[in-house]
Amino acid sequence: MSLKITILGSGDSVGTPKWDCHCETCKTARKRGIPFSRTRFGILIEVLDTNKNILIDTGPDLRSQLIRSNIDRIDAIFFTHGHYDHQSGFGDFYRTRIPTVEIFGTEETLNYILSSGGIMKSIRYKNREILPFHPIEYGGVQFTAFPVLHATSPTRPVGYVIEKPENDKKLVITGDTGLNIPNKSLELITNPKNPDILIVDCFIDNNDDTIKRFKKFIFDFNLFRNNHMIFPDILEFVERVKPNETYLIHLSHLCAPHDQLESNLKKFENVKAAYDGLTIYL
Ligand SMILES: [Zn+2]
Ligand SMILES: [Zn+2]
Ligand SMILES: [Zn+2]
Repeated sequence: MSLKITILGSGDSVGTPKWDCHCETCKTARKRGIPFSRTRFGILIEVLDTNKNILIDTGPDLRSQLIRSNIDRIDAIFFTHGHYDHQSGFGDFYRTRIPTVEIFGTEETLNYILSSGGIMKSIRYKNREILPFHPIEYGGVQFTAFPVLHATSPTRPVGYVIEKPENDKKLVITGDTGLNIPNKSLELITNPKNPDILIVDCFIDNNDDTIKRFKKFIFDFNLFRNNHMIFPDILEFVERVKPNETYLIHLSHLCAPHDQLESNLKKFENVKAAYDGLTIYL
């Protein structure tokens, strides 16, 4: 066992509760807190044998997520894409005690994040550009970016295959994506072995009420499918990728409240809803 994975934020771009919404899911989230409430996307990977703390993305709730998880040092960040809910928390590295945080991402994504100026100029970072399909080693772990399908992203989006070669473990984080990712990405995800753990973008769950609410909410289904997955897509993706365990993340307030969501998922073997603070060991 050498990776401790913490879901810092399991919600979509607006979080749950959505601040101007009082639907049943948002009402329950206000009343009961975690796991019913969900902050914006964030994943922490602690490499236990090399003592490195690595973030996947820095959403707008980063500061409170790190305080909640008792984390006071981050060594590196791997960015998936340039959307607000995945990068705006980078400003929380302003005036930290960290001498230098290493930031990894495609050239386009890093430039986009760093170009906002302001306090970003005062953050001490080391810029490490990555190319899709070119593995990069950090803290004893191998990270390989792969292109995904997320049409509204201002920069070309990627997910990550994260491996511990010596113990043959494989974690896959899709980041924001629709179902139809490029075949070359699918090959990377499934070869030479299938993922032990898949953490996958899922906007809504399989509850009947959720699907009704989603149909009212969505105005352009084709645009949506080029950006995120919904539960039927997850079943198809899991069938293609065959992970041992799947965790749904980026869940929206249109989903059923967490307890109902969990019981609805019971019939799907090894598919679980992530929630804020969930830890997984690999
Ligand atoms: Zn997002
Ligand atoms: Zn709501
Ligand atoms: Zn996005």
